[in-house]
Amino acid sequence: MNTGNMPTPIQNLDEYLGNELYMKREDLFPYCFGGNKARKALLFFEEIKKGKYNCVVTYGSGSSNHVRVVSNLCASMNIECHVIAPKEAYKVTNNSKMRELFGADVKVVPVDDVHDTIEKMIEDLESQGKKVYFIPGGGHGNIGTQAYVDCYEEIKQYEKENGVFFDYIFFASGTGTTHAGLVVGKLKNNDDRKIIGISIARPNPRGRNAVLDSVREYMGDVPDIDDATIFVDDFRGVGYGDTVSEWVIKDVLIRYGIPLDETYTGKAFYGMSEYIKDKQIKGKKILFIHTGGTPLFFDSLNGLLYGDYN
Ligand SMILES: *Cc1c(COP(=O)(O)O)cnc(C)c1O
Repeated sequence: MNTGNMPTPIQNLDEYLGNELYMKREDLFPYCFGGNKARKALLFFEEIKKGKYNCVVTYGSGSSNHVRVVSNLCASMNIECHVIAPKEAYKVTNNSKMRELFGADVKVVPVDDVHDTIEKMIEDLESQGKKVYFIPGGGHGNIGTQAYVDCYEEIKQYEKENGVFFDYIFFASGTGTTHAGLVVGKLKNNDDRKIIGISIARPNPRGRNAVLDSVREYMGDVPDIDDATIFVDDFRGVGYGDTVSEWVIKDVLIRYGIPLDETYTGKAFYGMSEYIKDKQIKGKKILFIHTGGTPLFFDSLNGLLYGDYN
């Protein structure tokens, strides 16, 4: 799949809480409703093409953005796609319907059995003579990190062309891969700015350690990794079907015409706003990275319409 190597747009959204707010629209990354999973998956599929693999196994909830994108890519290349999904997270959503449309096979197992199931499945497929490529959940690992080193370079290019410098970069942090790529970018360029991941699930220190591990895996143990990694875990509770997150999503949609979702970007945008207020940040240039999840926005429309918000 050729996306033309076009950078995703960065939009100036004007004054926000006494700062100038910009948004990098990764949700407009031009493949299957975009998002960070699309940016990461395309790099994995370069490996898959090069190695002439004919079968992909990946891990992720059947309703995840990751599985949607991976199953679309597999279908387009006529590659068999197997998804191991944790039982606890299984739901019918827009993403899971698309995954079904793309014909990916899903095996739902209890979380504790995930590891063994993956190993056994790869073994079985290989014994049938298939050439199997495994994509870690969420597109984790150095390839996924690389995708966000590339994104960081797009941000640098925008700054150069437009004569701006972002003092802060905020985004939703999950497995920490996106976060790690941005931290690597900052360290490689020696940039003096704050990269702030808003945790959508993991508490500290586990969440932050996952980011640190990914940065070290990519670039070795250089100094300053610790200082460069800011992982805020105060807003995890703001979540699915939550009135705060519904309020934020409605507000951002009305204000800017930009859809957020309840699992990732709604939490991150809310977390960013609270962080700015709490730390009394004023007069700065702030970049929010919209990491995608557009199909999730449509999943929450009914909640926005009929929920508690008023
Ligand atoms: C997966 C995802 C994230 C988190 O990305 P990680 O690289 O796992 O930290 C953020 N936003 C959206 C929309 C996602 O799908």
